[in-house]
Amino acid sequence: MAKEGDRLEGFEGPGFLATSLDKAVGMARKNSIWPLPFATSCCGIEFMATMASTYDLGRFGAERLSFSPRQADLLMVMGTIAKKMGPVLRQVYEQMAEPKWVIAVGACASTGGIFDTYSVLQGIDRIIPVDVYVPGCPPRPEQILDGVMKIQDLIQNESLRRRNSAEYQDLLASYGIE
Ligand code: SF4
Repeated sequence: MAKEGDRLEGFEGPGFLATSLDKAVGMARKNSIWPLPFATSCCGIEFMATMASTYDLGRFGAERLSFSPRQADLLMVMGTIAKKMGPVLRQVYEQMAEPKWVIAVGACASTGGIFDTYSVLQGIDRIIPVDVYVPGCPPRPEQILDGVMKIQDLIQNESLRRRNSAEYQDLLASYGIE
């Protein structure tokens, strides 16, 4: 569902609007995100609050959670990721179809947080590309919403063909992902 204030730019008149395909598809995509919550610890609790009635992620059209990677386009990683869990997270990412986006929610997912230790991955961007980082330990639901809105901005403004761009392909290649 489009948020209040969402308007497509273009030429408009009585009963018509002419705009580019990129903008129309971007608007549809950004208001129908299907998140996959990859929650391993306390930040996942904040996400539960983000989904609940007070903060209501559904206002952003993202209330349809998916626990199947093939039916999700936004990977939200919330919690401490042990190195043993890294291959699992990467497999989930690889099973998601394009276009897809990733948010690292909280200090642990972004940098390892307070767990500067041999067993904890020091940021999920060591194994998969990340689009938005949400700071905090834990981040408040407002911060998680802010992260989702930043993803929405990215989706609205990126080219339909960004995923085919040399830059994006190079990014994936730097992670050894085809
Ligand atoms: S960032 Fe803080 S609140 Fe979030 S999972 Fe790590 S320790 Fe828990």
